[in-house]
Amino acid sequence: MSDADEVTTDDLAAGQPMVEFDGVDKFFGSAHVLKDIDLAVEEQEVVVVVGPSGSGKSTLLRCVNRLEEIQDGEVRIGGEAITAPGVDVNRLRQKVGMVFQHFNLFPHKTALQNVTLAPVRVRGLSEAAARQRGEDLLGEVGLGDQLDSFPAELSGGQKQRVAIARALAMDPDVMLFDEVTSALDPELVGEVLGVMRGLAEEGMTMLVVTHEMGFAREVGDRVVLMSEGRIVEEGPPDEFFDHPETDRAKKFLQRVL
Ligand code: ADP
Ligand code: MG
Repeated sequence: MSDADEVTTDDLAAGQPMVEFDGVDKFFGSAHVLKDIDLAVEEQEVVVVVGPSGSGKSTLLRCVNRLEEIQDGEVRIGGEAITAPGVDVNRLRQKVGMVFQHFNLFPHKTALQNVTLAPVRVRGLSEAAARQRGEDLLGEVGLGDQLDSFPAELSGGQKQRVAIARALAMDPDVMLFDEVTSALDPELVGEVLGVMRGLAEEGMTMLVVTHEMGFAREVGDRVVLMSEGRIVEEGPPDEFFDHPETDRAKKFLQRVL
């Protein structure tokens, strides 16, 4: 057993949120892009983040696996501060799967190779074990017949499903999705949202940035509205969409619904 295999969900402190922002502030130079963010994502919860362009949604996600440094507050994964001095960032990052708007697949590797690469290199899985798991995962996202296809041979929706399978191959505790359907032709959006819905139903903890309000309402346990770096409203989907409290949320919903 490699060291990586010994790190499992067992070491998550019981009762802690899977992801927690505690008074987080983030600046780019003098631009204050996250302002005193408090947000907890509980195990198996699906939190959907909505808001206008530039409101800080991507930056919020990127802080979870410390792709961005924060200037105040704390971000915790399973109770462990990813920003603590001396913390093993790579170990915490393995708990977090991330899927982006632009697939970021390796162009010269097949679908299956894209999925098996990190488990072999980072987690020390055998080629055979990684291959078996990769085939299973690609089957689950409906790509069992595309194992040996290269990204250029796949549609946008298929590429995005490979990207989801690739993230799942690391057995993350939480999945982050940043506008993963925004670059897709409209007729391909449904197949990707369908995979995400399936993951949610299986109990995956998810933090999802999206403009798909139907998905937010039907799959989200909670909807969070960001505006100018702040969380300005949050609540269960039915309350958020049918009875928004703030003027900011009412305005936003008038524009998107
Ligand atoms: P959203 O995802 O909601 O569109 P972002 O998190 O991408 O918003 O951006 C929030 C703000 O931070 C925007 O004003 C954006 O211009 C700024 N920003 C994002 N990334 C950087 C960066 N790397 N350097 C400087 N400013 C950035
Ligand atoms: Mg963004």
